[in-house]
Amino acid sequence: MVKQEIAGYSGLSTDQVGVLRNLLMRKKNELLFKHRNVDEFNLTVEDRSDEIDLANADAVNAQQLRFRNRDNFYEKKIDEALTRIENEEYGLCEECSNPIGYLRLFARPTANLCIFCKEEAERDEANNGKSRVRGRMLSYLSTFSNVK
Ligand SMILES: [Zn+2]
Repeated sequence: MVKQEIAGYSGLSTDQVGVLRNLLMRKKNELLFKHRNVDEFNLTVEDRSDEIDLANADAVNAQQLRFRNRDNFYEKKIDEALTRIENEEYGLCEECSNPIGYLRLFARPTANLCIFCKEEAERDEANNGKSRVRGRMLSYLSTFSNVK
């Protein structure tokens, strides 16, 4: 019964949703594990702060901040996808409400748009979105590099 309900709204079987949920959980755990290592590494850098020059430390921190921001963004997408699974909204395009499809979700379990809407969004982004995002990111990073 549950299986049929799920198949009704997204075209995904219960088994397929289970596989995708495991994928999401595994990626989430990978990120958590990676951040734990980075935090330990940061501690080491701080301990040795008088041995290495500050410019070098800034470069390392900026690099880690970039990775961290990207991972935080991805982690948020994973959490959103897991919430959609719980709410039984997973697998539907947020733009056109059509099923995203198992193969696309298997390759990108955090996908919230079908391939058609995604391509359209990317065209829009290529027109005006990218420079805006990059500008926001730069101003965000500069607030950190000014902190002494
Ligand atoms: Zn769509």
